[in-house]
Amino acid sequence: MKFIIATNNPKKLIEMERILAPLGISAVSAKDAGVKLDEVEENGTTFAENSYIKAKAACAKTGFPAIADDSGICVDFLNGGPGIYSARFAGEEATDEDKNNLILAKLGDTKNRGAHYTAAITCVFPNGDKLQVEGKCFGEIAYEPDGDGGFGYDPIFLYEGKSFGTFTAEEKDKVSHRGNALRMMRDELKKYLEGNDAYK
Ligand code: IMP
Repeated sequence: MKFIIATNNPKKLIEMERILAPLGISAVSAKDAGVKLDEVEENGTTFAENSYIKAKAACAKTGFPAIADDSGICVDFLNGGPGIYSARFAGEEATDEDKNNLILAKLGDTKNRGAHYTAAITCVFPNGDKLQVEGKCFGEIAYEPDGDGGFGYDPIFLYEGKSFGTFTAEEKDKVSHRGNALRMMRDELKKYLEGNDAYK
């Protein structure tokens, strides 16, 4: 059974393939399915809405069930920002390093450094059915970057006092927002497919 993964990020595709394979699902990118996805405007106001917008568009375009995620970091001192604007809040051209430096500058030496990552994942089926989950990972913003593992905000995100930038992929998967959300989605999909004759 083929599911389209609506992402251009090869790392996300690999993670999804690994989690979905035991369910008999082959996760393929739209590109590998021979379809070019149109750019969709992520104009939702939540991670969940944005992941739904992407999954729905990919399902409509390909005719296959489609899965999309939307994720970001929410910093307490910034009232939950940058949140859904995590990818672009420092401008379209900003590098990960620029974004990390901007967060560190905004926080200065405040002790209020709580933060969490969120990942919303939505699966949309051609009949309009929708499965949706949200995973979180709580930690703190460091005073300076550490490590070059992971991507994005990982060098400044401390999980139990240790920078995500120093975690291996497997260590991060076990506790990360995306790992948590993917495990929840796997369980939801299992239940849905078992109760749905069309997918037996
Ligand atoms: P998107 O869901 O691919 O649009 O990602 C949104 C942005 O959130 C990314 O560009 C990263 O800056 C940030 N982000 C999401 N997940 C992670 C993560 O696991 N580590 C570090 N940064 C992340």
